[in-house]
Amino acid sequence: MLHSDFSLLQYNTFGIDEQAKFFFSFSDKQELAAFLKNEFRKDLPYFVLGGGSNILLTKPFEGTVIHPENKGISITEERSNDVFVAVAAGEVWDDFVQWAVSNNLHGVENLSYIPGCVGASPVQNIGAYGSEAKDAIYRVVCMAVEDQQERVFSNEECRFGYRDSVFKHEEAGKYIVTEVVFKLQKNAPFNLGYGSLRNSIDESTATLQIVRDTIIAIRKEKLPDPKEIGSAGSFFKNPVVPTEQAEQLKQSFPDMVTYPAPDGKTKIAAGWLIDSLGLKGFRIGGAQVHPKQALVLTNTGGATATDVTNLASHVRTKVSDTYGLTIEPEVIYL
Ligand SMILES: Cc1cc2nc3c(=O)[nH]c(=O)nc-3n(C[C@H](O)[C@H](O)[C@H](O)COP(=O)(O)OP(=O)(O)OC[C@H]3O[C@@H](n4cnc5c(N)ncnc54)[C@H](O)[C@@H]3O)c2cc1C
Repeated sequence: MLHSDFSLLQYNTFGIDEQAKFFFSFSDKQELAAFLKNEFRKDLPYFVLGGGSNILLTKPFEGTVIHPENKGISITEERSNDVFVAVAAGEVWDDFVQWAVSNNLHGVENLSYIPGCVGASPVQNIGAYGSEAKDAIYRVVCMAVEDQQERVFSNEECRFGYRDSVFKHEEAGKYIVTEVVFKLQKNAPFNLGYGSLRNSIDESTATLQIVRDTIIAIRKEKLPDPKEIGSAGSFFKNPVVPTEQAEQLKQSFPDMVTYPAPDGKTKIAAGWLIDSLGLKGFRIGGAQVHPKQALVLTNTGGATATDVTNLASHVRTKVSDTYGLTIEPEVIYL
């Protein structure tokens, strides 16, 4: 379905009111292919928008927003302990997690309650509580914008990284994810090693539903619910630096929170950096550093995109001035 001069207020969790020149939603691949073939569409920029939970609208979008609304979750194959599940891009991510947990399938329970749609999960390689989407994604089915051909990316071809994938680099803007196939397990050990999870669940009595419910309770406690307070979750990525640099910083700032990262590097908790500067609760206009979670910038009501971008710049400058570290936004500015 095609709309013009369409308000995106209901389509971004920050709650910013900007318009798209055109807004197209599709419920199956044929509808999408027919639209992409259209000559009028080809003259305009486009942006694929799922749940709008990782974007910041900074101005009116003078092109077409393409929004997947295709639905469906189905088991396509079982191979001993492995169960392959095809999920349409327009499914709400957490509905799929609930489906997996209800069907006693392991693999995505630690990613409970992350906002957004399934189509964005490989693009972002969403992650939480020691799990990432890449651990469960088997392949990603896309439609090429240029010629509407189907292209299937294996897990390896997605080149997943920390909140990163090939869809943000070489293949950016070329494909629309229409379906993701996950490889889940009938039996698997729980992944309870991560911080607050470790202290909250007794492994001997754990079930998938207990893990999911515990994670939802922790997340509700720590993070603003987008239905009540606008945000895009973690606004910044954790900086990853050479371990030598992290060790030097730790000599000056012994409380600094760090985690080992691949390739002899160290990840520094951006939330700690921001919190240590006393920025929790700091506001510019209607935008605020969340009083409980320094990594999250919120819209306290009526924030403009300028308020949010000014606040983000202020935070980045303060971190850079004190620690000599650059914190990059995880949120995409549109
Ligand atoms: C309160 C809160 C908590 C959060 N917690 C977490 C967390 O714990 N871990 C985490 O990783 N993230 C978290 N996020 C961020 C967000 O939920 C994820 O990035 C999510 O995957 C975004 O999904 P979306 O459908 O809203 O994508 P959008 O914000 O709509 O889009 C994000 C990107 O994906 C692209 N995209 C979306 N769908 C498609 C598609 N079908 N085909 C091609 N490209 C597509 C868009 O073009 C854009 O580049 C949180 C956000 C909020 C608001």
